[in-house]
Amino acid sequence: MPTTAEKTGTETPAQLVARLRATFRTRRTTPPAWRTGQLRQLRALLTERGDEIAEALNADLGKSRKEAYRTEIDFTVREIDHTLDHLEKWLLPEPAPVPAALGGATAWTVQDPLGLVLVIAPWNYPVQLLLAPVVGALAAGNCVVVKPSELAPATSATLARLLPEYLDTDAFGVVEGAVPETTALLEQHFDHIFYTGNGAVGRIVMTAAARNLTPVTLELGGKSPVFVDRDADIAVVAGRLVAGKFLNAGQTCVAPDYVLTDPETSAALQTALAKAVEALFGADPAQSPEYGRIVNERHFDRLVGLLDSGRTVTGGAHDRTTKYIAPTVLADVAPDSPVMREEIFGPVLPLVEVAGLDEAIAFINDRDKPLALYAFTESAVTRDRLSAETSSGALGLGLPLAHLTVSDLPFGGVGESGMGNYHGRYSLETFSHRKAVLDKPLG
Ligand code: NAD
Repeated sequence: MPTTAEKTGTETPAQLVARLRATFRTRRTTPPAWRTGQLRQLRALLTERGDEIAEALNADLGKSRKEAYRTEIDFTVREIDHTLDHLEKWLLPEPAPVPAALGGATAWTVQDPLGLVLVIAPWNYPVQLLLAPVVGALAAGNCVVVKPSELAPATSATLARLLPEYLDTDAFGVVEGAVPETTALLEQHFDHIFYTGNGAVGRIVMTAAARNLTPVTLELGGKSPVFVDRDADIAVVAGRLVAGKFLNAGQTCVAPDYVLTDPETSAALQTALAKAVEALFGADPAQSPEYGRIVNERHFDRLVGLLDSGRTVTGGAHDRTTKYIAPTVLADVAPDSPVMREEIFGPVLPLVEVAGLDEAIAFINDRDKPLALYAFTESAVTRDRLSAETSSGALGLGLPLAHLTVSDLPFGGVGESGMGNYHGRYSLETFSHRKAVLDKPLG
């Protein structure tokens, strides 16, 4: 049997879409047994072929095997297991109370598959961000087309080769490529488009979707701030910030982007951050197998252009041939400096001084709503105020990034950081239509 990759090689996007739609109309993908079968197949792919995937991730992003498993492969396996464990319960019809005037009637909701969905993924976690949405789309009983990022070419090629070996190729297609291929896909009619990446392309996706009234989920980025309170244990803060910020060389959508803190705390934090970098990556992070590389020269040049935005506390070293930029902390950073004008998306952590909590809240609210806001504080009042007086996709108290590993929490942004969410049962809702049913007996 030809693989989907081979089929799509000769198939136009319109033919691919027509073929998968025809499958959906047979309702073959609706029974729970098909859905769980596909999820088990996806799990088998990740567990049996994990090493091939890890090698591709190493080629694209210098990810260590450990990091590849932790943040991409095992992460997705956990998402599958969580879904397999709960799907039956999640799919139960949900009863709704009926007004007395409709005496004798009963009402409930069911979750209908949407049909054919498109998943467009970025390069920074090119496995997790492609396949975690697929888990939800398959669990919801949909046919799926995926478009991996061309900026992680080894991973894209590996997944395009492996996915059709494991999944039902009448219901699942992979289209590799860059802007022209994605543009051609976006001309097709999908029932949902799930896009992860930057906001400029998010607008292109949403505009294309509007032509067919196709709903979209936009998982975007932006600058995720950190507030460090004066009462926080600075050594603990520094260790957790360094681990979260410099994972994948800072190329994480929910990475701490910048730190707001008062001048005294900033001074203590600078020393502690330098120590924490050395503790995690050694005296020369270039030698650490646990430290990644920048995805390409364009991003490398962009990031090097940000290094002069403040006083270097630690790091600053870089090498274009290996696309290495040391974990870098900048102090005395002005709010209007280049590093503060765009999402950093790399291993540069600026410290910006504010007088205290009021100024920090005003600073955050003066800017786009972030994908995540982090705070390190012992004060319940500060936690409550940050929660009540700011808006962000998520609020992480005491630990950056970790909220996205909790399958029962919705993952997504608000405002400029995105719309919609997923993970666990939120993925099922994203990729389903909740249909209202009313049943009034005829007798
Ligand atoms: P990218 O360049 O890989 O682009 C993402 C996808 O969009 C790719 O598949 C690409 O082919 C496609 N694309 C690019 N240009 C296009 C165009 N003109 N028309 C149609 N499709 C196009 O990734 P990126 O955008 O550089 O990713 C980084 C951004 O994504 C950052 O802002 C980051 O914060 C955000 N991000 C968000 C999340 C999240 O879960 N919210 C996760 C990771 C990254």
